[in-house]
Amino acid sequence: MKLQVAGFLDNSLVNGKGFRSVVFVSGCRHNCEGCQNKSMKDFKYGDSVDVKEVFERIKKNRPIIKGVTFSGGEPFEQSKALSKLAKDIKDDGLNLWSYTGYTFEEILNSKDENKVELLKCLDVLVDGKFDKNLMKNAPKYAGSSNQRIIDVQTSLKSKKVIILK
Ligand code: SF4
Repeated sequence: MKLQVAGFLDNSLVNGKGFRSVVFVSGCRHNCEGCQNKSMKDFKYGDSVDVKEVFERIKKNRPIIKGVTFSGGEPFEQSKALSKLAKDIKDDGLNLWSYTGYTFEEILNSKDENKVELLKCLDVLVDGKFDKNLMKNAPKYAGSSNQRIIDVQTSLKSKKVIILK
């Protein structure tokens, strides 16, 4: 299965807790004012890469990394391919974060089962559209203060959004 990849970081400290590999995917429909990844909004930007190849590159960064982060672009526009990659990442014992311009509730209530499936694979979701007017007091790892750093598994179990401690 192919994933349209906009970029890859082998180990980053600014896209979630601890050293993480970061997969930037192409394509986004959100149009956030002040978007800092405009080139990645194009669904054709970057390269079409087999999910297995992406996973092999991630594995080469072990044991330095403690997890992987999906960013973009909008990861949930490629949720089918990313769900497959997410399952391999979790089976390998890595922690998984994703950024999204959707809210947790929008994804959970989506009719697209691939979006819901991807959500269920995550440890942490940084949700909501970027707002350039709310950059002050943004939580660590978020771009604006409306975005939430959500503990996904605890939130799913308790049926309400729980912010990561
Ligand atoms: S969700 Fe991200 S990539 Fe998409 S428009 Fe907003 S800031 Fe840009």
